[in-house]
Amino acid sequence: MSIREFERVASGVDTQPSPMAPQELIDRLAAAGDADAASAPTVAIVGGGILGVALAWELLRMGIRSEVFEASPSLGGLAGPLTLPDGVEVDRFYHAILSSDSHLAALCAELGIADQLRFAQTRTGFYVDGNIYSMNNIVDFLRFPPLGMIDRFRLGLTVLRAQMVRDWRALEGVSVEEWLLRWSGENTWRNVWQPMLRAKFDGSFADVPATWIWSRLVRVKSTRSGASQTEGAGHLIGGYRTLIEAMAKRLEQAGCPIHLSTPVQEVLIEGEGAAARATGLCVAGQMRRFDAVAVTAQVPVFRRLIPGAPAAYQKFLADTDYLGIVCPLLVLDRPLTGFWTLNIADTRFPFTGVIETTSYIDPKYVGGHHLVYLPKYTAPGSPLQQASDEEVKALWLENLQQMLPSFDPASVRFFEVHREKYVEPLHGLNETDQIPGIETPVAQLYLATTAQIYPALTNGESVARHALEAAQCIEAHLPAAAGRLAAAAASAGATATHG
Ligand SMILES: Cc1cc2nc3c(=O)[nH]c(=O)nc-3n(C[C@H](O)[C@H](O)[C@H](O)COP(=O)(O)OP(=O)(O)OC[C@H]3O[C@@H](n4cnc5c(N)ncnc54)[C@H](O)[C@@H]3O)c2cc1C
Repeated sequence: MSIREFERVASGVDTQPSPMAPQELIDRLAAAGDADAASAPTVAIVGGGILGVALAWELLRMGIRSEVFEASPSLGGLAGPLTLPDGVEVDRFYHAILSSDSHLAALCAELGIADQLRFAQTRTGFYVDGNIYSMNNIVDFLRFPPLGMIDRFRLGLTVLRAQMVRDWRALEGVSVEEWLLRWSGENTWRNVWQPMLRAKFDGSFADVPATWIWSRLVRVKSTRSGASQTEGAGHLIGGYRTLIEAMAKRLEQAGCPIHLSTPVQEVLIEGEGAAARATGLCVAGQMRRFDAVAVTAQVPVFRRLIPGAPAAYQKFLADTDYLGIVCPLLVLDRPLTGFWTLNIADTRFPFTGVIETTSYIDPKYVGGHHLVYLPKYTAPGSPLQQASDEEVKALWLENLQQMLPSFDPASVRFFEVHREKYVEPLHGLNETDQIPGIETPVAQLYLATTAQIYPALTNGESVARHALEAAQCIEAHLPAAAGRLAAAAASAGATATHG
């Protein structure tokens, strides 16, 4: 989808027959009265990231009330905000929206925030052997100096080949190394792919299936349009927080509370074996009863929350692993590279890329700052997760200076280190059947989490789509006897058309 098409969807033109106006739905639910509300099923949602809030929104569209419980003081999770020492709020981690993100476009239209979307042309580069090369269009591609003519042709063929894969299942038993060697050849493997994969997986990638690179090549290609294949990226003014808060505001208006700074201690499970059933939550030492519980946190967190679940299920969940991240944000008084993403095919550096989000976000939206993220993905158990912020800062700045001699340390306004242990789910060769489903062996306990989004990449688009899928699953299993606020929704002519 081109940026223009995206804007058309976001403007609401393509969402016909139009979903009920959110305000109309909210007014109807608010007017539904206590009797209706008392008989309506209520779902507890654990986690107030994009997935948790979007799930509550989708359930509301189906006429099902929920309550969201978020451990931290603000919504957003990985897509949440960071307040800089000067009071300016920016994204804790870098987040781009692509013109192909059609579900997000429709969601923004429905919530009336499409006018907050901004897109810009961007540039991608490669840092190889001390040099930066543009990879923005076909001409750059055909000129890419680190590779010979045949290798460049084969690199182009690899990207094309990925677009032609119709059934990703054919790739899940093939290692990423085998697939890239087959299509790109030895030279490109050694000079481009191998160092990038080493950096990305913090060393070992022998068990990584080709689906990993396939989904990336397809997504990257979707940022490019026109004969010259120019690239674009976008954002909401205020980041994903604008989207999350638009949903949260309407949820609260419709009587779906959102509890911040409220960590869930345990999911209450009554009965054993086939009779096990989720009945509510333990929050701040208090029991709260619900018709169903949906957890949107990462699998290791989910596992800790369900001590009452069958032991075999607990054991099954223990197999899900994640890459973590250490991601300093460099706040500068001037641009650094001008590239959205500078990929680093050089394992000497501690970070895997230089991501300058103010290459597509106008600095006026982020306090006049220039924002550069320097991520390092970490394997489970990486000692880097334990390094102090000062150690990370010293190592990162020294290496940035080495990599970009024009970088002036005096341009640094703030240096903020953020880290997370569970960022990107790791799926090995032929491990699709190890992915836990939305339904669990415990009745009325649901898991909606990024590890289930496979082989697609986890991002705002795929997470919001997954929220719809989870809502449909929950809706289908809620006790039929329980009343639905759907009556109110249906009478307003609601049709869940986005997505
Ligand atoms: C470095 C980085 C770059 C990214 N780049 C992009 C990008 O360019 N574009 C894009 O679209 N996406 C991007 N993403 C991905 C995107 O951020 C995630 O896919 C998305 O935010 C996942 O949302 P979630 O709700 O599933 O999980 P999370 O955001 O992890 O939310 C889970 C929530 O559960 C809460 N929680 C956990 N335990 C409890 C408990 N016991 N009680 C209550 N609450 C609890 C947590 O506090 C958290 O808020 C990026 C992510 C990272 C880390």
